[in-house]
Amino acid sequence: MKYDRKRVLVTGGAGFLGSHLCERLLVEGYDVLCVDNFFTGTKANIAHLLDNPYFEMMRHDVTFPLYVEVDEIFNLACPASPIHYQRDPVQTTKTSVHGAINMLGLAKRVGAKIFQSSTSEVYGDPDVHPQPESYRGNVNPIGPRACYDEGKRCAETLFFDYWRQHRLRIKVARIFNTYGPRMHPDDGRVVSNFIMQALKGEPITLYGDGSQTRSFCYVDDLIEGFIRLMNTGDEITGPVNLGNPREMTIRQLAELVVQMTGAKSEIVYKPLPADDPLQRKPDITQAKALLNDWEPKVVLEQGLEKTIAYFRMMVARS
Ligand code: NAD
Ligand code: UDP
Ligand code: UDP
Repeated sequence: MKYDRKRVLVTGGAGFLGSHLCERLLVEGYDVLCVDNFFTGTKANIAHLLDNPYFEMMRHDVTFPLYVEVDEIFNLACPASPIHYQRDPVQTTKTSVHGAINMLGLAKRVGAKIFQSSTSEVYGDPDVHPQPESYRGNVNPIGPRACYDEGKRCAETLFFDYWRQHRLRIKVARIFNTYGPRMHPDDGRVVSNFIMQALKGEPITLYGDGSQTRSFCYVDDLIEGFIRLMNTGDEITGPVNLGNPREMTIRQLAELVVQMTGAKSEIVYKPLPADDPLQRKPDITQAKALLNDWEPKVVLEQGLEKTIAYFRMMVARS
């Protein structure tokens, strides 16, 4: 009998987004091969999938070649939060660049369709607002965020060169700030920091004056966007922005988290980190047009509710 389940490789599959993607792909009826070196991901994130006969886990660093047979590749491997990607910045650039080369080489050899999780950080500290895909960005190439931003920019270059040169089927998503269960409690990102601080009754650390803005997308909405983008026709390459256009100041987020957790925490001010973008909001016109009217459905308060519940459980267990 012919085996007709498609085999999908998810690099970075034991991370926050990767674990949600693996879950969703299993529901969709794929065989999933999760590859991760556990730099920031954990076995706990995928422990509930290990008994699934259609799920396989391989410990591997994508900066080294990988020879497997797959039909589709989602390339998510890369530390994503500033404190994680700045811990070993050279490795961060290698992961984006060598990782992309290896996964593109793999895709070329086996004829697989390949998806890249790029980032809104390719826009740097933007002077166009909101950011459409046509905006070329304002990135400092020698600053502390460059290992991530420039690594991701170079990965996009590689994807488009493999597409032009080798006619690879590529899908590039530019992901904006996303949150939800299985974010790392100690990754220094604003949603996890504020919730953990609130749950522990510690001061909420607001960097700068809190007037900088971000737009937060709940993980389920993002993963829906991933699946829809991967399933578009071969003529669609992206880059496509995926994120939630509801923009808010970081101070508003702090106040909302305090209110929703019922915390007694006070807000304390800390210096704004170097090259911290002042504003960020996706223009999702393209995503709506190309991805069957895709747009985020989960409102921030609902998404925060679920995320707070997850972190409460983490705190209770520790
Ligand atoms: P994460 O840190 O939870 O996941 C990244 C995963 O990649 C981890 O499991 C980590 O162990 C793994 N990894 C890192 N280096 C590796 C290597 N060399 N080889 C194999 N595995 C490696 O972060 P996330 O938030 O799930 O991000 C996933 C992807 O989405 C990343 O590429 C990130 O740049 C991108 N992204 C995320 C966001 C967001 O808001 N979460 C925003 C923009 C882009
Ligand atoms: N590669 C891999 N798995 C494969 C095929 C290739 O990891 O199944 C890696 C290999 O390390 C290679 C890179 O992908 O260096 C780029 O491959 P490509 O065929 O594009 O280039 P070349 O092999 O000519 O350098
Ligand atoms: N931020 C903050 N307090 C924190 C963590 C982050 O005020 O404890 C701010 C940070 O300076 C930035 C915003 O929140 O302006 C989002 O930070 P995050 O690291 O989550 O994402 P990114 O800067 O990569 O968008």
